[in-house]
Amino acid sequence: MLHDSVRWETSTGRQSIHRLRGNSVARERLITKLWTTVALCAVLNTSCLPDTTPDAGSLDVVYANPSEQVELLSLGQDQTLGLLLDGILSANDQAALLVAFREYASPRRMPAGTELVFHYLRDDQWLRSLDVVVSADETVRLTRNELGWHSELVRIPIYVDTLLASGKIETVLWSAVVNNEYLGGVPFEDRNSLIDELDQVFQWQVDFSRQIRVGDTYRFAFEREVRPDGSMRSGRLLSAELVNSGTPYHAIWFDPNKDGEGSYFDLEGNSVRRAFLLKPLAYRRISSRYSPSRLHPILRTWRAHRGVDYAADAGAEIMATSDGVVTHRAWKGSFGNTVEIQHPNGFVTRYAHLSSFRSEVQLGSRVRQSEIIGYVGMTGQATGNHLHYEMMKRNGEHMDPLAVDLPAGDPVPSDNQVRWGEELITRVDLLESIPGTGPVIGLGSLQSQGDEQGGAQ
Ligand SMILES: [Zn+2]
Repeated sequence: MLHDSVRWETSTGRQSIHRLRGNSVARERLITKLWTTVALCAVLNTSCLPDTTPDAGSLDVVYANPSEQVELLSLGQDQTLGLLLDGILSANDQAALLVAFREYASPRRMPAGTELVFHYLRDDQWLRSLDVVVSADETVRLTRNELGWHSELVRIPIYVDTLLASGKIETVLWSAVVNNEYLGGVPFEDRNSLIDELDQVFQWQVDFSRQIRVGDTYRFAFEREVRPDGSMRSGRLLSAELVNSGTPYHAIWFDPNKDGEGSYFDLEGNSVRRAFLLKPLAYRRISSRYSPSRLHPILRTWRAHRGVDYAADAGAEIMATSDGVVTHRAWKGSFGNTVEIQHPNGFVTRYAHLSSFRSEVQLGSRVRQSEIIGYVGMTGQATGNHLHYEMMKRNGEHMDPLAVDLPAGDPVPSDNQVRWGEELITRVDLLESIPGTGPVIGLGSLQSQGDEQGGAQ
């Protein structure tokens, strides 16, 4: 998570918005991805789409009193809002301010680093208002008049646009989007999110780290909610095409129940998902594969390795590879901290050597595919931080997670075919509207099918 925040400056007498980026961990994570270079072209398109901007309220431009002075402070470690206000406001004033503040947030639960913007009258240093940034999207504005303190919640306005991009891979996909000058208006972190999203969606079709070839092409339509500073609040891939070694792959978002729990399908309406994720970690390097016999690194004896080891940094997030119920969440001998999940289709997955468990996931908890269950470590018998991952049948028979033929997700439900057909055309149109790219491969046959059906009516 990035700690985005907004502050106002009144140096010119008018308030402006700045963006502060503060999380060095996130930045490091991004930098580690910059291991290749790629060129591509992309198109930003916002004009030809219907205006779907939600009414999110607005951040009023307030013209500052010229005699006003502004001071920016942030909460220290273990410092509450009350502590920070000691010496700035009298006890009575402070109590009144906190009462007003509590209408929108708890003054005791503000994290270290929370930003506060104090507006003083320059003449007598009288505090006339205070803005407390409570999240990337919300600020509590406290103002003082003759009657005391009064609060309001100011929401950062967002707008929705659709980002269209296309590219040709010259080396590897990863930094294609990151280094793409045409996406200059898209913050660096968000360009990374786009690649993560593509990786998530296409993970069952193409292994981005091994199978991408020079000359492969891709294009995608990505709907996002954007803040005024250009940072993305949320986003969703609507449609994507990846042509890998001459084979086209498509992923079209469709939400059968319109509850946000949709999924991705190919042009024929088959799910591109499989019942299991191919990997329980977002970033992975396989350090030891499944094998009937290998020299054990600690015991120095030849033993079967009945799982896959993924080298990763301590604390890296581990995901459940499929929906299921947690049947073990405790120390397990040489496995160290171990989670086991039983899945409805008769499989069991095991995740070992964890540094810690995710507290929300307990023994007996139901987990969804991709839900975080714990963090990489080296507990038990391990020579370094890694995840040991196993897949078994319920009778305990082991399988190679990298070789097992994974069952597919459900296709588009039959009672949703009409809406699917309409949305498919709309989302494919987005891809085809990208200048310099041709018709979506494989859709021609679908359209002619439709024409034939139309003609038969
Ligand atoms: Zn292992």
